[in-house]
Amino acid sequence: MNTTLLFRDDAYLQSTEAVVTAITDDGHLILDQSVFYPTGGGQPGDRGQLQLANGESIEITNTQWLDASMQQIAHIPAEGSKLPQHGDKVQLLLDWETRFKRMRIHTALHLLSVILPYPVTGGSIGDGEGRLDFDIPEAVLDKEALTLKLQAMVDSGAAVSTQWITDAQLDAEPELVKTLSVQPPRGSGKIRLVKIEGLDLQPCGGTHVANSAEIAQVRIKKIEKKGKQNRRVRIALDS
Ligand SMILES: [Zn+2]
Repeated sequence: MNTTLLFRDDAYLQSTEAVVTAITDDGHLILDQSVFYPTGGGQPGDRGQLQLANGESIEITNTQWLDASMQQIAHIPAEGSKLPQHGDKVQLLLDWETRFKRMRIHTALHLLSVILPYPVTGGSIGDGEGRLDFDIPEAVLDKEALTLKLQAMVDSGAAVSTQWITDAQLDAEPELVKTLSVQPPRGSGKIRLVKIEGLDLQPCGGTHVANSAEIAQVRIKKIEKKGKQNRRVRIALDS
């Protein structure tokens, strides 16, 4: 049974009821639905609590896709946890403080890719900070100037929304491709696009804030040189 990905439609959901549909040999819990984002796209897996019907609570230390088919989510309990049974009803509670910071950083990285319109070769999201690696031929990047640009986009209060399109729709609207900074993956039939009103449109499966202003204070923390053309640009939240 596939896990319904509640965070895909509403990244602000902090809890949900769920049913244990399977327990792996490793003791990882598969649920019928989840608000926990599994590790992927440079964003770490969520952590939080899983409450049992008897009032006991288990610490979930990480969340991952069960396998490469990406249909089921494995919630990883702290070592030594007393596990629920198959079919048990549970309550999932997200570590919201951590997740919301990741949503802010994640959305800020989309904006970073707008102010630095170069090919992105990598990236990751940490707690309160994140980075993108760019293929940038020229060496001079002004940290302060980039911070001002990024903060102006944040402060503009741009709405962030998602839309799904099919491969066929993308073929029918080739002009859409020009506005995408990343070529969307083909073949699965459906592509999820994340739109930052008036600023950015790109395929992404992660969790984002609903308005750029929620990113609040952000700055370019460091720009590192990694190889001849590669620049690692680190950003950080200030609160
Ligand atoms: Zn994203």
